[in-house]
Amino acid sequence: MKREMPEFLKEFLFARSLRLRLFVILLIMGIVPGILMRHGIVENYEERAVEQRVATVQNQLMIVANHLISNNYLTNYGNPNMQSMASGEVIEAELEMLSNLYEGRVIIIGSNFKVIKDTYGISEGKILISEAVVKCFKGQNTSRYNPEHGYIEMTTPIISATNRSAEGGSDSSSVVQGVMLTSISNEAIVSTMEVLNRKAVILEALMVIVIAAVAFITANLIAQPLNRVTEAVKMARAGHTDESIEVAGYSETVQIVNSFNEVLAQMRSLDDTRQEFVANVSHELKTPMASLKVLADSLLTQDNLPVEIYREFMEDMVSEIDRENQIITDLLALVKMDKKEQDLSITILNMNDLVELILKRLRPLARKKDIEVIFESDRRVMAEVDEVKMSLVVSNLVENAIKYNKEHGWVKVILNADHQFFTLEVCDSGLGIPEEALAHIYERFYRVDKSHSREIGGTGLGLAITKKAILLHKGSITVTSREGEGTSFLVKVPLSYIAG
Ligand code: ADP
Repeated sequence: MKREMPEFLKEFLFARSLRLRLFVILLIMGIVPGILMRHGIVENYEERAVEQRVATVQNQLMIVANHLISNNYLTNYGNPNMQSMASGEVIEAELEMLSNLYEGRVIIIGSNFKVIKDTYGISEGKILISEAVVKCFKGQNTSRYNPEHGYIEMTTPIISATNRSAEGGSDSSSVVQGVMLTSISNEAIVSTMEVLNRKAVILEALMVIVIAAVAFITANLIAQPLNRVTEAVKMARAGHTDESIEVAGYSETVQIVNSFNEVLAQMRSLDDTRQEFVANVSHELKTPMASLKVLADSLLTQDNLPVEIYREFMEDMVSEIDRENQIITDLLALVKMDKKEQDLSITILNMNDLVELILKRLRPLARKKDIEVIFESDRRVMAEVDEVKMSLVVSNLVENAIKYNKEHGWVKVILNADHQFFTLEVCDSGLGIPEEALAHIYERFYRVDKSHSREIGGTGLGLAITKKAILLHKGSITVTSREGEGTSFLVKVPLSYIAG
């Protein structure tokens, strides 16, 4: 039963989508610089606006300071007995206008730190000492911006007209007679900034929409070749494996497609081999069956046959059944070889004993053709092998050497070993194998001479089984043969079994 994927997993997988990631990256790349730029511009504007405002107001304050000096405002107003009403009113109107204009407050402090004039009318007569005021008495203009409380505070020295030097500075003879402490509102700057910000946000929102659309289209375009690969793979999975898939795109997708095509080709060839094998098996199994049917039919259709004929036909039928049995036994042996290496049952085996035992079993077969079977071995060979599979190797090779031999021929089996491998050589004085057939003798059901091989009971599976068994032991098999002279098989297998 197919289980539905949990919701959180779906979300997770979606987050892993390349398209989504590209979209997010492009979106961030498009939006972040815009936001940074807006912040930069607004902040820069604020700084510049404050600077400009300070410069303008300071200029005006300097003019007022000049007026204060020229009208002896400080000396007159510092001393209540000597106030000149007319000039004082003019200056106060000027100060009033200034503070109204900049929504601020102007305080005039005399040389004894006493507040002479406060446009708010709160601090008059009080003593006002602050760092900025003290600095200003030394002849220095100061300004301080306080954005939290929304004001700019500045001080302007009131320098006596005779000794006054260049703006903002003082020389040794200059006398700072008083200080103007002015604070003005930054509201105008803030409201301009707000307008700026609002416009920038609208622009940014528009930009986000455009960038999102561009990012979406771009992400889709970039991911398109990958989607095409996925579609092509899906088609192949659905069973359309006959053709190679073709997707033009990036070199990476081309590489994926090429590798996939190689896998497809391997699958196809595996499928072909399997089909061929099934066809061969069916054919091989059908042949004895067909013979059996012919024999049985002829017995059934003819009446009153002599007992000898019955016996002869029955014997033929038994030999066909034996043959069928042999093919099935060989097929089962081959299938067993297809299993994993782990299924090998490795033991330390005396190879000399194994070969002796097999030769003893096969000597009667050799005797039928008067074939001499010789075993040569200079040393005792102990090897880590699977006994059943190694027996199949030795018996198949020796049996072939006897089966495909001439009358009065010979078969020689030589067992040897070095410190790493043991070798088993099986030579015969037989028919030999034609050169063009040498490459095929390990194929399943391959026989050089079909009719001859059948006559002597070959199934065409013996060497396939032999090779498989040797490969499972990480060994190798080679053959040299001359037609009409004989054949020699050389098997080389590691003495110690190498797993993996
Ligand atoms: P079979 O069961 O027919 O012997 P094998 O797989 O053992 O099948 O051998 C494949 C074919 O290789 C045989 O049909 C035979 O023609 C050839 N062959 C194998 N061994 C020898 C040999 N020692 N001498 C000559 N021909 C051989």
